[in-house]
Amino acid sequence: MSFLRRWRRERLRAKPFPKTWELLLPGIPLFSSLPPQDQHELRAHIRVFLAEKRFEGATGFQVDERVRVTIAGNACLLLLHRETEYFPFLRTVVVYPTLYVARYMRSAPGGAVEEGMEVRAGESWPLGTVVLAWDAVSQAGFGQGARNVVVHEFAHQLDLEDGAMQGVPVLPPELVQPWKEIFFGEYQKLGSFPDPSPLVLCQENPAEFFATAVELFFSDPWTLRMYHPALYKLFTRFFLLDPAANLHSS
Ligand SMILES: [Zn+2]
Repeated sequence: MSFLRRWRRERLRAKPFPKTWELLLPGIPLFSSLPPQDQHELRAHIRVFLAEKRFEGATGFQVDERVRVTIAGNACLLLLHRETEYFPFLRTVVVYPTLYVARYMRSAPGGAVEEGMEVRAGESWPLGTVVLAWDAVSQAGFGQGARNVVVHEFAHQLDLEDGAMQGVPVLPPELVQPWKEIFFGEYQKLGSFPDPSPLVLCQENPAEFFATAVELFFSDPWTLRMYHPALYKLFTRFFLLDPAANLHSS
């Protein structure tokens, strides 16, 4: 990282947190359960995120302070406790007011290409954009059965940081081997009969397995721990957080 960028980020992190933003923080699902030092770190990350990323409203949606702080706060949960480059490939967050319809093209068995339209709550592109539906963002929670679309789409951005979306974020050296064994071991076991795992639908794609498992880790960690205890433990070593043990369900 350049000296100038590091210096600019340090200055941003040290600035007082605006009062109007502070009032919005309880709307971020995990915020009230975090210890004060993590809350402090999250505020600093939000400052940098909002200074560096551009927001655009789709179909006339007005992106106000609530939208920006809520999205930044959820995304920056993924950055706590580690040196971070703040999702370096991301430039723009596009926000639709509600679930939106998008065209998809994907490969089908036999080399064919399947095309169609589908309803989406969000998507994450390798070339600098995350798209989110505000109604899905504002329904994000922390508790049994909760979801968090922002965490999901930004987990894809974390995955991208090593250059490819394949289920492997930039890892500290001590996690490279455990990741191969545990993450890909759990991935390969998906779908073996009978498989009650909530992640069973991700068996075609390790990137989707990673993003959905990270989403569970931050929204319903008890479920992830119950079905994939080794993966849960691996995530506690990567994120340096233990949401199921240290935080209480709200
Ligand atoms: Zn996904």
